[in-house]
Amino acid sequence: MRLREKVALVTGGGSGIGAAVCRRFAREGAFVVVADVDRAAAERVASEIKERGGRALSLGVDVRDRAEVEEMVKRVEEECGGLHILINNAGITRDNLAVRMTEGDWDLVVEVNLKGTFLCSQAAFRPMRRQRYGKIVNTASVAVRGNLGQANYSASKAGIIGLTRTLALEFARAGICVNCIAPGFIETPMTAGLPEKVKEEALRRIPLGRFGKPEEVAELHLFLASPESDYITGQVFFIDGGASIGI
Ligand code: NAP
Repeated sequence: MRLREKVALVTGGGSGIGAAVCRRFAREGAFVVVADVDRAAAERVASEIKERGGRALSLGVDVRDRAEVEEMVKRVEEECGGLHILINNAGITRDNLAVRMTEGDWDLVVEVNLKGTFLCSQAAFRPMRRQRYGKIVNTASVAVRGNLGQANYSASKAGIIGLTRTLALEFARAGICVNCIAPGFIETPMTAGLPEKVKEEALRRIPLGRFGKPEEVAELHLFLASPESDYITGQVFFIDGGASIGI
């Protein structure tokens, strides 16, 4: 068991990639905290883990809200006895061409994706520093290379890469590694509703010829959350079937 005695907090853990990470980490012995703005979804994932003999706690949180984030970390420390792994996975899209994008949709996406990652990392720093051990895994996207209709999303995800590299520098002395994954097209509720034409175009650009599965992304999370990656920090890992290679 690669995560025995570890407490792992997964934001956006109620759905898609986050839920797959929660299930995978639980199988490796972690005490998993499933945190999501959709409290019922978080509870479903936590219950499933517990029914299978794992340890889990569900919490409702909006990662944009500093007070809620601080309360979440406090509860994790009190109820789980520490915090070793933070998976900043909560994220949203509000796609539109830049000329038509509303200020509200710009702000919302940047706040959830980028500010949420900052607030959760900042709150997790204290318990991790006390333990002199921590693993933070942030979530960017292949969209950092630019994607039609995703000015807000692409900018927020590119910001997460800069944030990752800076936090890696600032947190290193405290024994905390900070890395980032950048998924391509993964089959989750986030991508399920995309028009068929968009999906066909996306598929055409993937050298491996298929979309990714949340469980495949969770394996990369596991590596970056486990001691096997102790000498890796400040890095970005694309997991996209080769989509980011280019033509
Ligand atoms: P998903 O299935 O939509 O899951 C995201 C979860 O985050 C949902 O449960 C969502 O709740 C929750 N969430 C939204 N806003 C939140 C907030 N303010 N505070 C806390 N939780 C919040 O998405 P996914 O596809 O698994 O994506 C997970 C991460 O991977 C995201 O950061 C996404 O940008 C990134 N990513 C995904 C893909 C892909 O192809 N799927 C590609 C690249 C990157 P609601 O459902 O209530 O909104």
